[in-house]
Amino acid sequence: MMRIVILGPPGAGKGTQAKSLAEKFKLTHISTGDLLRENVKENTALGLKAKEFIDKGELVPDELVNEMVTKKLNSLKDGFVLDGYPRNLSQAKFLDSLLKETRRDSFIIYLDTSEKVVIERLSGRRICSNCQAIYHIKNMPPKKDSLCDVCRGTLYQRPDDTVEMIKKRLQVYLKETQPILDYYSDRIMRISADEPKEIVFRQILENIENDLHKK
Ligand code: ADP
Ligand code: AMP
Repeated sequence: MMRIVILGPPGAGKGTQAKSLAEKFKLTHISTGDLLRENVKENTALGLKAKEFIDKGELVPDELVNEMVTKKLNSLKDGFVLDGYPRNLSQAKFLDSLLKETRRDSFIIYLDTSEKVVIERLSGRRICSNCQAIYHIKNMPPKKDSLCDVCRGTLYQRPDDTVEMIKKRLQVYLKETQPILDYYSDRIMRISADEPKEIVFRQILENIENDLHKK
């Protein structure tokens, strides 16, 4: 059972690569950001609590997110690609305890990006309001203006993708999320992710294949 965790700052391309990996290896894509936004949209108890943190660009408290992830993982029979989680050391340790890892089929991928690229990517990002497909006005534009290629849903800009909120989220990333790269240092795969998405994807696949040969 293949398990992939994708790490990296907001805008690194985690969702984009996670979707391609899920398709290639027939895995369930779990994005904690998508799950939380869905809860906000549906006004669930979790959504109501999470909203104030998301609106400030801060992390939603661990106990809420950990519970959501536990439920999701327990509902799966097959492998998964996890995007947006873990986001701090305590979540990383929680995930380890949850999985009691069989390391052979587990991969920790870090999308290494420069701040300039991340800001450019986030400010041009558009999301399908229906199926959550990810676009970029310049880098990955839809075929028809503002409409999703997959499901014809309308595209929207996330309210936390404004310049001010992007800066805040990057600060939170540096302070809270970056330290987990050290926690995973013995098994992390570092990918240069400033490249176009096909090149990043190829690098990820090469790393996974090399790793499988070593194990
Ligand atoms: P994350 O999930 O890490 O926040 P996304 O996958 O949502 O990042 O990507 C952020 C933005 O950058 C989106 O608009 C996406 O279309 C675009 N993008 C993702 N990967 C690349 C890439 N390799 N090159 C150029 N643009 C990209
Ligand atoms: P993302 O879609 O990954 O950019 O996440 C959007 C927002 O959802 C973040 O700014 C956080 O407020 C919240 N969020 C997503 N994943 C997590 C997580 N693992 N822990 C805490 N908050 C999260």
